[in-house]
Amino acid sequence: MINSNTSLYAVLGDPISHSLSPVMHNSAFSHIDYNGVYFAFKVEEIGNAITGIRALGIKGAGITIPHKVTVMEFLDEVDNLAKKIGAVNTIVNRKGKITGYNFDFLGAVKALKEKTDIKGKNVSVLGAGGAARAVGYGIISEGGRLTILNRTIDKGEKLAEELESEFCPFSDFKGRKCDILINTTPVGMHPHVRDIPVAKEDIKKGMVVMDAVYSPIKTNLLRVAETKGCVTIDGVSMFVYQGAAQFELWTGKKAPIDLMRKRVLNALGCSS
Ligand code: NAP
Repeated sequence: MINSNTSLYAVLGDPISHSLSPVMHNSAFSHIDYNGVYFAFKVEEIGNAITGIRALGIKGAGITIPHKVTVMEFLDEVDNLAKKIGAVNTIVNRKGKITGYNFDFLGAVKALKEKTDIKGKNVSVLGAGGAARAVGYGIISEGGRLTILNRTIDKGEKLAEELESEFCPFSDFKGRKCDILINTTPVGMHPHVRDIPVAKEDIKKGMVVMDAVYSPIKTNLLRVAETKGCVTIDGVSMFVYQGAAQFELWTGKKAPIDLMRKRVLNALGCSS
């Protein structure tokens, strides 16, 4: 029942119509009888949205593409891990003071470690945006050998330098030693579901292939990787783990993680 004590939450991004954060969080709020409601807002100017959050007393928000890096300058405080990563995916509004956190890091590492070791592995991360920062930081923290590949060379080189790792242009991926390949670009995301971020022939048997894109759950990249016999990791695990951490920060209650995963999978048309 929505009333004048209902706490408001939202995800801010562009595009946003694919987001399953509202499904995941609203079902979790209602499961524990928490008086909260979660919206999705298509936001072009993140600074204006943060001003709105302060003005309306919105309690917290998820930050997504393309605002994870730019949002930081509009916050009152950024926690140390998010500062090191250089990206924020979650904010909390404590009596008008807005603090940024990064749970993509935790989500990506947990999802990967369910299927593979990271230590000593050659890991290629496609992309140099907000998600790549968190995933790349996670790989380094776990002792992986990281290479960043990005369409815009300067941006890719800058992230590689910050993470003390290597940079490789997309065109040189073919010759690289790669044990784990992780896509953090939106290539393949709904509605452009036929797109694939690397050439099919460069996906080799023996690689572990992860896609941060979760809509669709089986991207073209994962479909091709599966046909080559690779171990694959879809974006849902990362998404649910980061969502559970957000939920716990906002409500102070244990996240009903199995229910959250089930609702996300149902919304993606999968029976869990
Ligand atoms: P972002 O900060 O805007 O970064 C996007 C990155 O993708 C940039 O490096 C960009 O390259 C690259 N890119 C964009 N379009 C491309 C194209 N057509 N070809 C090649 N590269 C392209 O976005 P983000 O927040 O990191 O999110 C990226 C994706 O990850 C989104 O699909 C998002 O939904 C997904 N994600 C999933 C989870 C999860 O929990 N599963 C968490 C976070 C993000 P340039 O530098 O050249 O522009």
